[in-house]
Amino acid sequence: MSTDTATKTPMVLADNVHKSFGHLEVLKGIDLRVDPGEVMCILGPSGSGKSTFLRCINHLEKISAGKLWVDGALVGYQERGGKLHELSEKRIAAQRRDIGMVFQRFNLFPHKTVLANVIEAPVQVKREKKSEARERARTLLDRVGLADKMDNYPSQLSGGQQQRVAIARALAMRPKLMLFDEPTSALDPELVGEVLDVMRGLAQDGMTMVVVTHEIGFAREVGDSLVFMDDGVVVEAGPPRDVINSPQHARTKAFLSKVL
Ligand code: ADP
Ligand code: MG
Repeated sequence: MSTDTATKTPMVLADNVHKSFGHLEVLKGIDLRVDPGEVMCILGPSGSGKSTFLRCINHLEKISAGKLWVDGALVGYQERGGKLHELSEKRIAAQRRDIGMVFQRFNLFPHKTVLANVIEAPVQVKREKKSEARERARTLLDRVGLADKMDNYPSQLSGGQQQRVAIARALAMRPKLMLFDEPTSALDPELVGEVLDVMRGLAQDGMTMVVVTHEIGFAREVGDSLVFMDDGVVVEAGPPRDVINSPQHARTKAFLSKVL
């Protein structure tokens, strides 16, 4: 790792991170760094390990080897065949409260209204007062353009609206880091823009974000960095314009020629 930026605690720092499922090695030595306030976009073919990497950051998976720090805390560290060092369950739970995740599928509670979806975690997990959680939910729903849908149920909303509720719900926990896993991939094309607009607004407000997406335009305009992953490794990373306009590796070129 370089030392020139060592004064700033990275939000995510991966040092040779490996992850295997049985004999299948999915992450084969990921190195990357996300600084506070940075928007990193991750591109790559299906099966390259993008979701697995996000899931490791969010403690949904445990790394098999290497070192992973999230918000300054060493989450997992295991030398090959050696002892595994892990954060305590309590610290993991605390970290998960600080990380928001938005999936391709919106995963809203179908039997709860939009407002109830947004206040669920702050009230249940953070023990916030209902009145205060509601007040904040209104502000967040206003921010994602859905103040008038508070009392609706998810099934009454379009996919784009549901995804915006999912973003508001994640923001209700006041995350330090937002992870997006192909947040617009399940949407009809005409609904993609409204979700990307909300994400662009978040980025402008300084949110630290890691976004797995195939939306090259978004990566170019909003991303501070772009990572191209293939077959469990970071093939290429850099400023989005550089990676998109002059990819250095054949694999990156081949992938970009398909999605551009
Ligand atoms: P991507 O998000 O880039 O499409 P994934 O991280 O979802 O890639 O998957 C990478 C590889 O890991 C795939 O081959 C997938 O089948 C495998 N994989 C992911 N999760 C599991 C799991 N829980 N058990 C076994 N294999 C898995
Ligand atoms: Mg995926």
